[in-house]
Amino acid sequence: MIECVYLQDSYLKELNTKVTESGENYIITEKTIFYPEGGGQPTDLGTISFDGKEVPIRKVKKESGIIKHYLDGEIPAIGTEIKMKLKWDRRYAHMKYHTAQHLVAAIVLDLYKAEVAGNQINEDSSRLDFRPFKPTQEDLEKITEKFNKAVDEKKEVKIYTTDRETMNRIIPLERRKLFERLPNSITEIRIVEIVDYDIDPCAGTHIKNTEELGHIKILKTENKGADTTRIIFELI
Ligand SMILES: [Zn+2]
Repeated sequence: MIECVYLQDSYLKELNTKVTESGENYIITEKTIFYPEGGGQPTDLGTISFDGKEVPIRKVKKESGIIKHYLDGEIPAIGTEIKMKLKWDRRYAHMKYHTAQHLVAAIVLDLYKAEVAGNQINEDSSRLDFRPFKPTQEDLEKITEKFNKAVDEKKEVKIYTTDRETMNRIIPLERRKLFERLPNSITEIRIVEIVDYDIDPCAGTHIKNTEELGHIKILKTENKGADTTRIIFELI
């Protein structure tokens, strides 16, 4: 079982590890700091180095529960010691936009009882679809104001795991709907909590404090059906 170091420490930029398996154009390793694409968060990019060579990683993907690192170049043999290096600017942008998405989702749920129907994270913007949601200009200003307040308050982002029973106790029913999509076989649940604002299950990478986010600017909204609205935003 590969050790997903990015879940314990999202800020680790380099890691030494070993190749345990390889294919025509990919490797599997003992540990990884590379987030595989999923949940609206894109793949990490970066490089591996071994024997004085450096090979770019062009995609990281979880396939049947196994994380594969697809390489653009020479595939190291099984057992090779390698050094992984993240393209940090890209990852850090994804961390900020991922935490920002949780915050926007919590605010919209609180104020308008609308839930997330889709999402995508990019390096320079992010989008969230909400349903049922038809906001006015004033609503968008309210969301912006509340988001920026949470940033100015420098709220800690806590990450921990809990069991389902505890989760049922600490998380309000409305927010728990998200958890109920997880299969019962998953008993340990990873929680991402933005203190005083949100508590959510997530296997993504996040920042440590809302002050890292910067303020939000809602760029535009799009009509995605009778009761669904897309919000596109950037952090400034
Ligand atoms: Zn998430």
